Amino acid sequence: MIPVLALVGRPNVGKSTLFNCLTRSRDALVADYAGLTRDRKYGEGDFEDRKFMVIDTGGISGEEEGIDSVMAGQSLQAIEEADAVLFIVDCRAGLTPADAMIARHLRVRNKPTFVVANKVDGTNPDIALAPFHEMGLGELFATTATHRKGVKALMDHVMGKFPEEEVENPDLPTGIKIAVVGRPNVGKSTLVNRLLGEDRVVVFDQPGTTRDSVYINYERHGSNYTLIDTAGIRRRKNVKETVEKFSIVKTLQAIEDANVVVLMADASEGLVDQDLHLMGHTIDAGRALVIALNKWDGLEETQKEYVKKELERRLRFIDFADTHFISAKHGTGVGHLYESIERAFKSATDKFSTNFLTRLLQDAVREHQPPLVRGHRIKLRYAHPGGHNPPIIVIHGNQTTDLPAAYVRYLEKMFRRALDLHGTPIRLEFKTSD
Ligand code: GDP
Ligand code: GDP
Repeated sequence: MIPVLALVGRPNVGKSTLFNCLTRSRDALVADYAGLTRDRKYGEGDFEDRKFMVIDTGGISGEEEGIDSVMAGQSLQAIEEADAVLFIVDCRAGLTPADAMIARHLRVRNKPTFVVANKVDGTNPDIALAPFHEMGLGELFATTATHRKGVKALMDHVMGKFPEEEVENPDLPTGIKIAVVGRPNVGKSTLVNRLLGEDRVVVFDQPGTTRDSVYINYERHGSNYTLIDTAGIRRRKNVKETVEKFSIVKTLQAIEDANVVVLMADASEGLVDQDLHLMGHTIDAGRALVIALNKWDGLEETQKEYVKKELERRLRFIDFADTHFISAKHGTGVGHLYESIERAFKSATDKFSTNFLTRLLQDAVREHQPPLVRGHRIKLRYAHPGGHNPPIIVIHGNQTTDLPAAYVRYLEKMFRRALDLHGTPIRLEFKTSD
């Protein structure tokens, strides 16, 4: 599992700046799920080839109705779900009463905490850092987030706390890892129960892992699958028993860890922005994607027409993903999901030879030359596989950084068609060899 880091601190200390430093430049996933505050952001980053997740918890000013009420709310959930807390303070402002209050609360939480003394630029560090040492809250790191200074040293220590480990249980058959994700109430629990409750599905019992998500191994028609159960569905006695706390952290981790993501949306509500965010996130993570529009049973013909039109319009950017109209409740369309899951998995993990990829590249270049840049023709020489789930194709040439986006899209489309890839994003990586 990838480590989850929560950024905590007063407003204006530099949390967003640090968040942007740490995460990929893409838009962060903003939490505007019902019941969650809007100012919480989730992002992912890499540090020396290892992934981590960051939550910006929004500011805690200390002027709210008692810090308890604030900490007890969304920020607290974020801290609870995090593996470590980065507590950001402002060197220029010094130690404020609100900082001291946050520190007191963090102390009893007993999470690995790193104090980030930001805005150290233009101060005398010896003097500026002294009061923060006195908080006695663990290791202190001086940063200038606006210039990314000190961030590497900080992350060296943070990631050092989470050594990489393999947690596979060798005794259990594992198969395609499937994550069923979506907003609250779209029908995830109903679908999961339906998937596992089918005739001839054999579920292998497995003790809960340290994380809250449970990995359920099962066999269906002779194939093995592993379902990542983010909502603890199998531990509830029945679906209606409790409305489980919906967790974005668990959702994002499940996406990260899955081979294929089944994204569920509620057809009776149409596609909402959060559905699209989750799809965008799945693609950014490189995961194969199958879309399931649920509650199709309750719709009138005119509504169905409308939803289909909307889909076409809004899903243009992921035209490679299969869409199913299902009723988890009645079981209609559920069997067909497996066909898409299998196909997406196969596409995501297919192996291709360097010869074949190079030939495809050369044919494409012959058909459409890359443009001239500053009087020189961009040259693309050869291609080789660079990984799978998502499939990565590494293309060598010169001046490849000047390649226009439209040409990259042309190549991507060509590879997708020629390699018969369905349901998975693909990545082209360019290497310049001169
Ligand atoms: P947040 O409210 O905690 O998310 O704080 P922001 O990231 O929005 O930063 C607040 C202000 O402080 C912005 O104007 C930033 O440009 C500035 N800032 C952030 N980090 C630094 C730093 O390391 N040095 C200086 N001088 N300014 C910074
Ligand atoms: P989750 O929060 O995503 O796990 O959603 P649930 O599986 O708990 O379902 C939320 C509600 O939608 C429940 O009342 C279900 O009975 C209902 N529901 C789930 N699937 C369907 C469906 O296919 N059709 C209809 N009409 N209702 C459904």
